[in-house]
Amino acid sequence: MNKVELEKIKQTALENHIPIIMDNTLELIAKILKEKRPNRILEIGAAVGYSAICFSEYLSNGGIIETIERDEERIAEAKQNFIKAEVSDKIILHEGDAVQILPTLNNKYDIVFIDAAKGKYPFFLSEALRMINNDGIIIADNILYKGYVMSDYNKHKQRTAVRNLREYIKEITENPNLDTEILEVGDGLAISRLKN
Ligand code: SAH
Ligand code: MG
Repeated sequence: MNKVELEKIKQTALENHIPIIMDNTLELIAKILKEKRPNRILEIGAAVGYSAICFSEYLSNGGIIETIERDEERIAEAKQNFIKAEVSDKIILHEGDAVQILPTLNNKYDIVFIDAAKGKYPFFLSEALRMINNDGIIIADNILYKGYVMSDYNKHKQRTAVRNLREYIKEITENPNLDTEILEVGDGLAISRLKN
């Protein structure tokens, strides 16, 4: 991986207000990945590829990240960024809406990272549960959504997103097969480990 290019990709994304993963969130996930050395990661929400490039450093030998993005401009930029960062051989980009793409996937993943439309998190969870390995980890970003999720204020325009994020939290905390932590890092991070 080319770290100089990675830093440029990050700065360009920040300048263009692309909602890339926050530094402290990335640090925390990097720790998990270092310990796990995953062989296969699924990411939902690539944007310009920044987090996927970061994660690629922690794959085991020959490991692969599959990531999904629906925005055409971001897809084009992500492809360029994978080349610049010299990680094209480790990342597969699925182009289109994750709601359509996920049901067509049939691999098993060590890590699923959910970082896309908040209103679809419960659906993404059901697909993640279908494809996660027995000792896998499902991680969801933006789970506290600027504090809206834990507040009792219900009338803002983000209420569909908030309702679905609350539903996601309810499902991961009540599922007896998952060991879940919800952390206040960044915009809120949910880490759910499969119990085996
Ligand atoms: N993981 C990235 C940031 C992702 S931002 C990083 O940290 O670098 C969220 C992205 O998800 C946006 O680019 C948006 O276009 C995409 N997205 C949202 N809903 C989606 C969906 N249903 N299918 C595919 N992509 C989606
Ligand atoms: Mg995010």
